[in-house]
Amino acid sequence: MEYRHIGKTGMSASVIGLGAEHLDNKPYETAEIVINSALEQGINIMDLFMPGQAVRENIGKVLIGKREKMLIQGHIGSTDINEQYDRSRDLPTVKKYFEDLLRFLKTDYIDFGMLFFIDTEKDFSDVFETEIFRYAQDLKQQGRIRAIGASSHNPVIAKKIVETGIVELLMFSVNPAFDMAGAETYVLDYLDKDKAMDFEKKLDRDRAALYQLCEQKSVAITTMKTLGAGKLLSPEHTPFAQPMTVAQCIHYALTRPAVVSALIGCATKAQVLEAVSYLDKSEAECDYSEVISGFQGDFKGRCVYCNHCLPCPAEINIASVHKYLDIALLDETNIPPGIAAHYRALDRHADDCTACGRCEERCPFSVPIAQNMKKAATLF
Ligand code: SF4
Ligand code: SF4
Repeated sequence: MEYRHIGKTGMSASVIGLGAEHLDNKPYETAEIVINSALEQGINIMDLFMPGQAVRENIGKVLIGKREKMLIQGHIGSTDINEQYDRSRDLPTVKKYFEDLLRFLKTDYIDFGMLFFIDTEKDFSDVFETEIFRYAQDLKQQGRIRAIGASSHNPVIAKKIVETGIVELLMFSVNPAFDMAGAETYVLDYLDKDKAMDFEKKLDRDRAALYQLCEQKSVAITTMKTLGAGKLLSPEHTPFAQPMTVAQCIHYALTRPAVVSALIGCATKAQVLEAVSYLDKSEAECDYSEVISGFQGDFKGRCVYCNHCLPCPAEINIASVHKYLDIALLDETNIPPGIAAHYRALDRHADDCTACGRCEERCPFSVPIAQNMKKAATLF
């Protein structure tokens, strides 16, 4: 397993994480098999947004004696009043469900207290300008959560969340299909060949800007909808010319700036193993550039961090250099020290580039790589 630092929290997450939605309404044995398989594979982070008592108790029971081996994202505002899965902004209700989460899990702390499902301006003000936000801060002060996080599907609102400077982890929906839809579109419903998915034929600027902002501010991202609810894998549903593989979807998520863990919902041990087998795949097997290269639009000439251009004879990690360069270019006079440090930590640097041009022949996005290497060498 590989691990990545979760922003400034001092914690590290496995690059493959577990989404627990498929453990809902399932017997205890399912939770036991899936979570234990995940732990055996080195997975150390899971999301638990489900409000139901039974699933929370099942997960808590599996984690008895090994609680510290799993980082838990627990959600503040996830409820199921009247047995309907819902979000609440009513403080007593929110408190009750979060206290229940601790109680049912039989734990006295949650690693990430995730402010739940903040997709609209109203969601934002209902959470960040009310007692709910103070409740999250109190939980942190009391050590009952270790860090404050938030979940969102909307890049414009997610940017606002990150700009508060309080949130250390963002759970965000990331996959290539979503990244090509407008900010306001809830695209899952349209991931279907029969429905007209209104692709803008380009990577969405708001989403790209969100990932860069997170990297710049050291706010980590964990991804949800990494496989587009399985639709990206399916020949009937994929909006692309061909279905993607699990490894390609995971690789896409993990090559976005700031992403530390791709969370995959698993219902069986086989699904856990399939997700983790990403780590054994070759670069060619993970390469997603062909899937998205027809959707460049005005992104032509801009790096999407796919690494299709490798190998570089100078062994430069071209995607990583571009990731840091893109952030440095946002404000050349004020490069975040963390970004400069990440750049310095690379094994090879832009000034190792001999301008041989081999990478440019392979880049499907016509990125002027040698020129960008020069820029990066100067800036860093
Ligand atoms: S330069 Fe081109 S091929 Fe290389 S990582 Fe960027 S987009 Fe992919
Ligand atoms: S142009 Fe530079 S970055 Fe590209 S392959 Fe040659 S040495 Fe590597």
